[in-house]
Amino acid sequence: MPCSPGMRRCRLSCQHRQMVQDYRLARHAAELARETATGGYAAEVADYGPIVTFKAWLQQLAAPSEAA
Ligand SMILES: [Zn+2]
Repeated sequence: MPCSPGMRRCRLSCQHRQMVQDYRLARHAAELARETATGGYAAEVADYGPIVTFKAWLQQLAAPSEAA
């Protein structure tokens, strides 16, 4: 991966950078969904279980049919 640490020096067109930004959006959406579903209560958040991780998100990209 030719990217600089933290991707600080990546170009706007860098696909790795774009991918990470897409993930951040997906992660943020998942966090909002969890907050809406649980009302933010710690016990309910624990019951809700894990939300999307970068690894899971990448796997979903690679094999959308298996991710469900
Ligand atoms: Zn890059």
